[in-house]
Amino acid sequence: MQFQIKENSFIARIAAWKLRSTQIAIVIGNTIHLHNTSRGEFLSNECWLNHEMEHIRQYRKHGFIPFVVSYLIESLTNGYFNNKYEVAARAAENGNLPDGE
Ligand SMILES: [Zn+2]
Repeated sequence: MQFQIKENSFIARIAAWKLRSTQIAIVIGNTIHLHNTSRGEFLSNECWLNHEMEHIRQYRKHGFIPFVVSYLIESLTNGYFNNKYEVAARAAENGNLPDGE
């Protein structure tokens, strides 16, 4: 699967501040935005990479706008942790993909 990595991302910096997290990776379309971590560190962390790859898959599956809207609704109604897209991404961390994918 094709994707890009953007280090020292401003968007990731904002997300890190919002989520009160020091290191962060956030996927927007095909790009993984990083804050406080390097490309090398991120890519060598297989669980983390699998998690973000699942988000890339979600963007592809639903389409950019529908996914962003649905993701935000999920976060507002269920919270970040119980957002179904985050649940699926955590399930993918150890290489277990959801059924049918
Ligand atoms: Zn996630």
